Amino acid sequence: MSDLSSFKIAVIPGDGIGQEVMPEGLKIIELAANSVGITLELMQLDWACADYYLAHGVMLPEDWKKQLDGVDAIYFGAVGWPEVVPDHISLWDSLLQFRREFDQYINLRPVRTFAGVPFPLAGKAPGDIQYSIVRENTEGEYSSVGGVMFANTDREVVVQQSVFTRHGADRVLKYAYELAASSAPDSRRLTVATKSNGMAISMPWWDERAKAMSNNYPDVVWDKQHIDILCARLVLQPERFDVIVATNLFGDILSDLGPATTGTIGIAPSANLNPERVFPSLFEPVHGSAPDIAGKGIANPVGMIWSGAMMLDFLTQGDSRGRQAHDVILKAIEMVLANGPRTPDLGGDASTKEMGDAIAALVSASF
Ligand code: ATP
Ligand code: MG
Repeated sequence: MSDLSSFKIAVIPGDGIGQEVMPEGLKIIELAANSVGITLELMQLDWACADYYLAHGVMLPEDWKKQLDGVDAIYFGAVGWPEVVPDHISLWDSLLQFRREFDQYINLRPVRTFAGVPFPLAGKAPGDIQYSIVRENTEGEYSSVGGVMFANTDREVVVQQSVFTRHGADRVLKYAYELAASSAPDSRRLTVATKSNGMAISMPWWDERAKAMSNNYPDVVWDKQHIDILCARLVLQPERFDVIVATNLFGDILSDLGPATTGTIGIAPSANLNPERVFPSLFEPVHGSAPDIAGKGIANPVGMIWSGAMMLDFLTQGDSRGRQAHDVILKAIEMVLANGPRTPDLGGDASTKEMGDAIAALVSASF
C-alpha cells in the first residue's frame, strides 16, 4: 500500500446470494470512494465458490496467495453450497485459509438497530442496541491439540485443549481497548468476556491480561463478565455495552447472538482484520449464501454494503475521506431502512437491486 488514495481490492462474490449482493456493494463503495477522491482497483476472482470446486475439485487455485499479492483488502460475498461442497470444506478451504494465512486475528462486528427494522427485544428502543464485538480469530479454544484415548471402550477419554498465547491475547485486547478509547467519550466502556469461575486455568489468566492492558487506557471503563450472564445481558440490557472483547469460542457465540437481536441477519457486517496491514483484511456480510432464497434477486444487500463501508474506513486508516465515505453510506442505509424500498426479509417487496439503487441514489446525492 503506497499511499492512501488508491487501493487494490480482490472481489470474491462466492456462492448463492453472495453473487447477488456483491454488485450492490461494489456499486455503492465505488460511488462513495470516487466522491472522496479514493480510487479502487477491483480484481474479480471466480474462485472460493462451488462452481470452482466442481470444475477443479478444490476451493482455491494453488497459487491463490500469489494472485492476492499486493491486494489491500478482500471484499467477500458468501461461501457455501452444501449440495455441491460439504460445508466443512467450503469454509475451511477458503475463508478460514485467508484468516490463518493473512493473520486476520480480529473479527469485528458492529451491532446496532435501525429505525424501520423491527427487532425482537421487547421494551427496548432502537438506540439501546449499539455496540461492537471484537472476537479473537486465530487461537484459543479452536485448536487441534488433543485426542481420544481408549477409543471405543468404556474408558474412552476425549481431550481438546485451548491454546492461548500472551502475544495472541495481548494483541486482541489492545485492539479492543484502542477501539473503546477512540470512541465518543460516553461510549468508552469495554466488557471482557470470561468464564474464570469455571475454566480455572485459561480464563483467570485471560482476566489478568485484560487487567494488565487496562493500565494503558485510563479513559476506558472496563469490566469482566462471565459469558453466561453476558449472553443474558445482551438480550435483557443491551444498552450496557459499547465494546465487547472475547476469545475465539465466546466471540463466535456472541457474534451470532448480537446480530440476531437486531432483527435480520441480512443487515449485519463483519471485518476480519490484520490491523498492522501486513496482510490484506477481509470484509464480508455476516450472513451466508442463503440457498433458500438464492437466485430470486430478493436478498437484503445491506450487510454487504455496510461491510464495504467498513472496508473504506479501514483502508484509509480512519482519515477524513474514508470516514466520510463510510458515514455517507451508513446515513443512506439508515434512510432506506427507515423509508424503503425494503427487501422481503424486512417486510417489503423490493428486489436486491431496487434497494441497492435507492441507497446508491442517496449516496450520490450526498456529495
Ligand atoms: P452459514 O453461512 O453460517 O452456513 P447459514 O447457511 O446457516 O449460514 P444463511 O445463509 O445466512 O445461513 O441463511 C440463514 C437464513 O437467513 C436463511 O433463511 C436465509 O434466507 C436468511 N438470510 C440470510 N441472508 C439474508 C439476506 N441477505 N437477505 C435476506 N435473508 C437472508
Ligand atoms: Mg451456509
